Amino acid sequence: MNLNAKRIYMDNAATTPVLPEVVEAMLPIFNEYWGNPSSLHQNGQVAKEILNEARAEVASLIGCDAKEIYFTSCGSESDNWAIKGAMLAAKKGRDEIVTTVFEHPAVLNTCKALEKQGYKVTYVPVDNKGIVKLDELKAAVTDKTAIVAVMFANNEIGTIQPIAEIADIAHEKGALMFTDAVQAVGAVDIDVKALGVDMLSFSGHKIGAPKGIGALYIRKGVYVKNLIDGGAQENSKRAGTENLPYIKGLACALASAKKNMSDNDRIRALRDRLIDGLLQIPYTVLNGDRERRLPGNVNVSFEFVEGESLLLWLDMMGISASTGSACSSTSLEPSHVLLSIGLPVEKAHGSIRFSLSHANTEEEVDRVIENMKNIVDKLRKMSPIYPQTND
Ligand SMILES: *Cc1c(COP(=O)(O)O)cnc(C)c1O
Repeated sequence: MNLNAKRIYMDNAATTPVLPEVVEAMLPIFNEYWGNPSSLHQNGQVAKEILNEARAEVASLIGCDAKEIYFTSCGSESDNWAIKGAMLAAKKGRDEIVTTVFEHPAVLNTCKALEKQGYKVTYVPVDNKGIVKLDELKAAVTDKTAIVAVMFANNEIGTIQPIAEIADIAHEKGALMFTDAVQAVGAVDIDVKALGVDMLSFSGHKIGAPKGIGALYIRKGVYVKNLIDGGAQENSKRAGTENLPYIKGLACALASAKKNMSDNDRIRALRDRLIDGLLQIPYTVLNGDRERRLPGNVNVSFEFVEGESLLLWLDMMGISASTGSACSSTSLEPSHVLLSIGLPVEKAHGSIRFSLSHANTEEEVDRVIENMKNIVDKLRKMSPIYPQTND
């Protein structure tokens, strides 16, 4: 089975194909420069040089110093490290976390784990457009707050949060500001200094690098405890011999993503074309703010149909999309994100996410719209609760 042939891939928020230039950039490290960057001989020194270059490149692409970039195994590890590391390092009396109700499980379940250990967590609600309620966030942050963790862009509905404003609110009370930017890095321009965040996480496989590589920006002067103790790698902050091929791959992918951002207007136009096409189907709503969303994110609910059935039909038609997030697609619980924006359970169950990239075309969008019209129509005709006379 050749999965690349003819299929339409619109599930880039779950993972992305590894870019050809990334594979190309990684190969010499497998074949020739496989040394351990900690070794003093030439094999090691060449590897170290590649590591330094990759770190400097990643840093320049998000606007920080090379010393502020720490490579990890994935976005989840970066999220865990930022939050657990901050809480373990927090001053006495600062034992509270402020986050939102619609974070990725890597943040939510980290907070839940810390709650079990006695830390207090406040989960700030979001409005029905999928933007965090700033007044409630402001009320939740106190001088007991050690860290505020708010995602940059939501992975299901793509809504972009006012991170710079939230960082100001956190800093006014002396708390750290962390943002999970896994969906945003590579999709929109990120300048950590302009944002004013203390920590920011991202992941390779969402931007064209392989799975199993991530990074955490930690602003100079911010102290977080180690999650993984051992050797002196990553400035003695994160042990483990560096995954050099993937680190190189991450740097290369981020550089490509940055170049591809010049294509963002076209991606937005594709997104809007898809949204408009899908909204022609009766009893359909767009989830999340229409403007303040990622260039490639479309999340739509269709009443009187099951998202799982839609997904299976789409799959048979050669189209890859997602219900809610891939992480929860094996559970029958409705998405916590869709519930958080006030969607009733029935509508949440009939939701589909399409996440586009620069690789998608207008022709693909039109094929998806045509297929969706047919599939929704077919499923509704079989539904005992659909008002059959209405169209
Ligand atoms: C995918 C994702 C993660 C997890 O990243 P991994 O590298 O898969 O661990 C965390 N946060 C968000 C918002 C994501 O989309």
